[in-house]
Amino acid sequence: MQIFTHPDELRAQCRAWRANGKTIALVPTMGYYHAGHESLMEQGRKLADRLVVSLFVNPAQFGPDEDLASYPRDLERDSAIARAKGADALFAPAPSVMYAPDHSTWVEAPELAAGLCGAFRPGHFRGVCTIVLKLLLLAGADFAVFGQKDWQQQTIIRHMVRDLNLPTEIVLAPIVREPDGLAMSSRNTYLSADERARAPLVQQGLRLAATLASEGQKDVGALRQGILDFWAREFPEARVEYLSVVDPWSLEPLVKISGPALLACAVYVGKTRLIDNILLEEKCRREANTSSHQNQ
Ligand code: AMP
Repeated sequence: MQIFTHPDELRAQCRAWRANGKTIALVPTMGYYHAGHESLMEQGRKLADRLVVSLFVNPAQFGPDEDLASYPRDLERDSAIARAKGADALFAPAPSVMYAPDHSTWVEAPELAAGLCGAFRPGHFRGVCTIVLKLLLLAGADFAVFGQKDWQQQTIIRHMVRDLNLPTEIVLAPIVREPDGLAMSSRNTYLSADERARAPLVQQGLRLAATLASEGQKDVGALRQGILDFWAREFPEARVEYLSVVDPWSLEPLVKISGPALLACAVYVGKTRLIDNILLEEKCRREANTSSHQNQ
């Protein structure tokens, strides 16, 4: 595995691979790898001839009061993991080579960034879109793998790829969870032992609503209230930043569930902000898939 720290090096290598007819998969990350990142790398490895993993804690997507300085970093451990997962290149640039001091060009999707995480993290998705576009262009990626964990992110990236006619296929990887259901995140390291023990209640609330939805509850107000009551009872120390049901593609809030729907939340456990989401009506769709499969 080659390690590149300058964008020109990555571009030159990827150009050479493409000239030899090789396809390229890109996995953009901010590092401090866990099994969620590893699953993205495994998927990328299968998709293309060459796997490029980028590791960049992107300052442009952090707000002034956010955790840019304290975000966990361990390049040595991360590069060993990327190598073990079969990456051909790890791109780990310094911020100064990714952003000129007078950087002035930004990519954004303001309507899609208006709700969910974007409502509480102004400028976050502008930073995400800009860095992801730069990475896609540098790698000339045929595929890029993103996790369902950050649903709004992958949706905005899909819109960006369509709107700007980028030649990259965006591939979605399912959320990897700890055995107790907590969605894996580099930020889970911020949790104290007590907070960590309680954190699976985030997902338990979402699952409760998913069960109610699959049993026929289609009213979003009732589903939300069910979760809020559960958290108020079982998890009173949690602070809910948002809890929303949206159309998975447009990210528009829904009032009734009559098709695909995404239930997403951000919850503070102590000082740690945890996000999670679940697609509703999975059961209905599974049943539909099963019966169409049986009918074939
Ligand atoms: P990050 O390093 O947190 O920016 O995440 C890099 C990529 O890994 C993003 O596409 C995330 O959605 C994805 N990711 C993060 N956590 C998980 C997880 N628990 N399961 C699957 N993918 C994840």
